[in-house]
Order: sequence, then C-alpha cells, then structure tokens
Amino acid sequence: MNSALVGVTNIGKSYEGRDIRSVKVSTGAGRPAFVINCGLHSREWVTPATCMYVANQLTSWYGIDDAVTDVLNKVDIYFIPVSNPDGYEYTWTTDRMWRKTRSPAANNGCLADCNGVDPNRNWDNHWDAPGGSSTNCCSDTFRGPKPFSEVEVNSQKEFVMGIPNVRAYIDVHAYSQYWMYPYGWSETPAKDAATLAQVGQDSIDAIRAVHGKRYETGSIADVIYVATGSSADYFYDAGITCSFAAELRDQGRYGFTLPEAQIVPTGEEAFAGLMVMAQAVADGTC
Ligand SMILES: [Zn+2]
Repeated sequence: MNSALVGVTNIGKSYEGRDIRSVKVSTGAGRPAFVINCGLHSREWVTPATCMYVANQLTSWYGIDDAVTDVLNKVDIYFIPVSNPDGYEYTWTTDRMWRKTRSPAANNGCLADCNGVDPNRNWDNHWDAPGGSSTNCCSDTFRGPKPFSEVEVNSQKEFVMGIPNVRAYIDVHAYSQYWMYPYGWSETPAKDAATLAQVGQDSIDAIRAVHGKRYETGSIADVIYVATGSSADYFYDAGITCSFAAELRDQGRYGFTLPEAQIVPTGEEAFAGLMVMAQAVADGTC
C-alpha cells in the first residue's frame, strides 16, 4: 500500500453514530472519477473485503504495473468500503443475515416492531413505483417512509453528487455473479444501453479470464428482477453514464456465508472487472 496516494474522509455518520468513510485513490488533480460502493447490504460480507482488496491492489501496483499506472494517471477512484456500518456491526454481533439499516421502527412509521430500511430501495428514483420494493416494515426490501429517509443513503448521495465529474459508479453486492446496469425500475432500455452492454460484456470477460467464473450482464430488471429506488438507477439518471450494480460470488452454494478461501479470489476477479470500468472512464467511453 502506497499511502501517499490515499485520502480518507468521513462522508457522514450512520443512524447509530458510526463514521461512514471514503477512501480516495488519486495521483493528481482534475481527473474524472469512478466511485465504488460496498457493503450497502450488510450481510454481503465479501463486498467490503473486495473494496479493501481493490484499493490495496491499486495503491500497491501504481508505478509498477502498466495498466494500474495508466488508469491512476487518468482517473480518481473513490471507495466507500462499508456504506451501512450499523447493519454491518449487527451482522457481526447479533444477526448474520441482517440486510437493512438499523433505523428504529418508530422512526419509519411502523406499527410492527421491525427495524431498518432497505438502503437499496430508498433512493429518490421511481421510489414508490409498484412492484420493485415493499411497504411492509418487516420486509427485507422495505423502502422506508420516504426517499432518502436513511442517513446512510442521503450521505452517500450528497458525497457522490459533490464530486466533480463522476463518470462511473458501481454498487457492489453479493451474491449471484452479475454485472448489471440500469434500469432496475423498468425493462425500458437506458439511452446509453449500447455503451453499458459493451462495458458490461468487457467486464465479465475480464472476470472470467481470472478464475473462469461466469458472470452475467444486462439490465437489472432483465437479469435479476424489477427493483425501484436503487442507487444505480439514481446515479444514472443523475448523469453518471456508467452506473452499475454488481453481484459477486457465488451462485448460491454458500451465498452470503462465502468461505474465507474465496475472499481473495473474488477480489482478484472483481479487480479485473473494475479495471475495465476504470479504463472506460480513462478512454472517454463512459
Ligand atoms: Zn445486496
């Protein structure tokens, strides 16, 4: 790790008061940016590990590896390694399968004693369109009482929108091995669908070349299901052309409890896919 390239900032505090941190990897001023978010769903443990693995690879190989050096000479890369820290802590202490934030039921207009909001159904993009989220407080896809009700979601939005010239964003999840792009709220193709499909295909080809794992690409609504109020749709409609949502390993054998032996291999193949996106920013594709 070459710490001279790294800047750490707090982008806000979680509901329970934990810092939400961003790691910026940059070698100079005035570059277009690529933002990589991990851990929005707290039980998807391989994703914070992947953000940290990729940040470490970039900073360790700058000036040594030609591809890394070239990308970092042209693009600033931001990581939000743990974007739902209350949920993440809860998965370590209380409930390994917790997905949502930890905002109290009473704050969310809930009669039932069910806490938390799905932070990937809480963005102000077709938030209340039918079929892509739940109004049930006890559901894992509960959208919350209003868009951006969750401080973690609102802080991330404010942070990313405050970065000049963000050209790519990816919200990293697990599991199922997908590399998807907007829209999630509808099967209507995005206006940049051809570009997104090409970047998606190049990413999954690079991933497969590392350990042979097959990922699938396509729009969120086509590949997985209709999902409203998602980060990828929000940032795409806010003007970030290459806005993606990934699902890392595996395809269901272990699911959220991916064995430790697969953490580094997952990071290695994700690194390859993310480098494709970073290169697409560097060459102006995105
Ligand atoms: Zn997820």
